[in-house]
Amino acid sequence: MTTEFKDNITILGETIPLGTSKEINFNIAKLHTATKIEVPVIIERSKKPGPTILFTAGLHGDEINGIDIVRQLISRGINKPKRGSIICMPILNVFGFLNSSRVFPDGRDLNRVFPGSENGSLASRVAYTLMTEIIADVDLIIDFHTGGASRFNAAQIRIVHDNPELKALADVFSPPFILYSKNITKSFRNACSQLNKPILLYEGGKSFFVDNTISKIGVEGVKRILTHFEMLNSKHKVTPSKTTPVYVEKSKWIRATASGMFKAKVAINSKISVGDVVGQITDPYGKIHHAVKSKLEGYVINVNEASLVYQGDALFHITTQLKH
Ligand SMILES: [Zn+2]
Repeated sequence: MTTEFKDNITILGETIPLGTSKEINFNIAKLHTATKIEVPVIIERSKKPGPTILFTAGLHGDEINGIDIVRQLISRGINKPKRGSIICMPILNVFGFLNSSRVFPDGRDLNRVFPGSENGSLASRVAYTLMTEIIADVDLIIDFHTGGASRFNAAQIRIVHDNPELKALADVFSPPFILYSKNITKSFRNACSQLNKPILLYEGGKSFFVDNTISKIGVEGVKRILTHFEMLNSKHKVTPSKTTPVYVEKSKWIRATASGMFKAKVAINSKISVGDVVGQITDPYGKIHHAVKSKLEGYVINVNEASLVYQGDALFHITTQLKH
């Protein structure tokens, strides 16, 4: 991260001086009823120069746990920094959020169209505006996500390998798990990395659901990051993390060996061994009772909370190689 901080930052063409609170609406398009769709960008700048941190959520419209975390940053005033600037964008994909959908109305995944294009699809235009009009003056991005559908993710930060700056920031955030994962082509994380903008990806919980523990770990992690940059306002207190992060090098899914009604028998974050019964799959007629046994040893970092599964469905995500 740079050590030279600008007095003025420019967001969506508006110059914002130090000591300003501002909400700018990022107009994308209208609904068919001519109702404007706006993505609010909430900017808080201290009088004292310092880093600019952007918090984003709802890149997938169904991932409301992340939206709750950014909402809490605003409603609790954590976004009013002691120095520097905090930009909050609680819902990047407003269309998906309104439609109770992960994607844009045309089915496009916003996280697969970055860096976007000026005249491309709707999602691609949103990506383009975000990258060209907002990211330029940002020093760090934290993007909040959840597991897809009913798959509940343990609270984790995802970073790429061999990036000491990201590793240090993930350590400051101090989630229960830090996963090493490659940047996916055309993702927001990849586009930010290509501009040399450090980005932490937080994952926790499942779609259409707000879990208070997941929100709390997210908010506390943000407070630790803000403290690290001397940005946390003195009215907020930081609690040191109770756990040391587990660094995950490799992981594997345990899949359903039968179709039927599913119940998990192990909890998220727990440690399992080879041979453990981790779930049960039954039929609706009370005749079949199939125990799901683990062939893996490791921590459970995702539990599928679906009650009905098909053979082959991903049930548990297990860490298979840790980094020390
Ligand atoms: Zn997501």
